[in-house]
Amino acid sequence: MQFATSAIHAGQAPDPMTGAVINPIYMTSTYHQASPGEHKGFDYSRTNNPTRQSLETCLAALEGAAFGLAFASGVAASSAVMNLLGQGDHVVVGDDVYGGTFRLFDKVFTRYGLSYSWVDAANPAAVRAAIRPETKMIWVETPTNPLLKLVDITALASIANDAALMLAVDNTFATPYLQNPLSMGAHLVIHSTTKYIGGHSDVVGGAVLTNDRTCHQNLKFHQNAVGAIPSPFDAWLTLRGVKTLALRMRQHELNAAQVAAYLCQHPAVVEVHYPGLPQHPHHGLAKRQMRGYGGMVTFTLVGGFDAAKIVGQRSKLFTLAESLGGVESLMCHPVTMTHGSIPESQRLERGITGGMLRLSVGIEDIDDLIADLDQAFDGLSEA
Ligand SMILES: *Cc1c(COP(=O)(O)O)cnc(C)c1O
Repeated sequence: MQFATSAIHAGQAPDPMTGAVINPIYMTSTYHQASPGEHKGFDYSRTNNPTRQSLETCLAALEGAAFGLAFASGVAASSAVMNLLGQGDHVVVGDDVYGGTFRLFDKVFTRYGLSYSWVDAANPAAVRAAIRPETKMIWVETPTNPLLKLVDITALASIANDAALMLAVDNTFATPYLQNPLSMGAHLVIHSTTKYIGGHSDVVGGAVLTNDRTCHQNLKFHQNAVGAIPSPFDAWLTLRGVKTLALRMRQHELNAAQVAAYLCQHPAVVEVHYPGLPQHPHHGLAKRQMRGYGGMVTFTLVGGFDAAKIVGQRSKLFTLAESLGGVESLMCHPVTMTHGSIPESQRLERGITGGMLRLSVGIEDIDDLIADLDQAFDGLSEA
């Protein structure tokens, strides 16, 4: 099945009991057993639930994975992956990852004896150089957040295989519509389904996909043991969202390309980060590795923090809010919002400055979106 078909049909056959075309929301904690230990594959809803299972099957199909697990949030999914590791293990992490991932690794898992090296994962040599005898995993995001740098998954998979490490890729920004890391040699794919997969900013969730059976069984054990599962209703909402992922991603990209072009010519803007721009430093890699360039655009204003504040206050259609990937356009100020938990010195080292804004370009009419930016930029200091 092709992507758009799987999104609508994988794991979503009509209900055998009633013929309902849409999977029921199985709001049940427990299941009848015909005799002790004899059940239909479901015994308790933390362990397994039919609505959640539909979502897991669908997401696995979209990533070309043999196995999929759904979690209560993206960070719960990331946390489950860290549960694969133990005291003394070391992870090489891209330095431009989601702020919550940084917080989870640096503030939580270091207390349990994991250690992390933060490197520019866009440079495979830097990743290789950071590997130690106790390294067990490489963890990256691509495109990265908020700078939209590209990480070469195939190159890192080869480094991971040489050193017998797992390569985990957070594929939230690209979505399975634009990129399938497992097909490039990654061992684990992580999603915050809160973003493009859910797509309507109405549900929080996460997922982990893999082809490795042992890894899956281990994750499944932790999903059940730790218990950060989504409710059947959350799973159902996410499934409803994912059906239109292909359509939405096409429109997000069309709009984002036009927003990026508009920003490039605006004198109040110093820098535009969008992988679809020919001048983007990783444009060639984006072309090879992705089937499109996505809906995220980051830019920096000439006027710095003050200008970013004004634009944030004035923009109407671009709602000033955390998160991304919904049908509505959002604007985020990384320094005070998503990346607020990263110490200033590290933020500046990574090039995340006060004048930077990150747009999640929605699927509204492009003329309205450009007009909104235009009025927000009015009178700002120019280069
Ligand atoms: C939002 C996000 C997460 C965390 O997901 P939640 O659903 O908010 O817990 C992880 N990675 C990336 C890239 C994200 O954008």
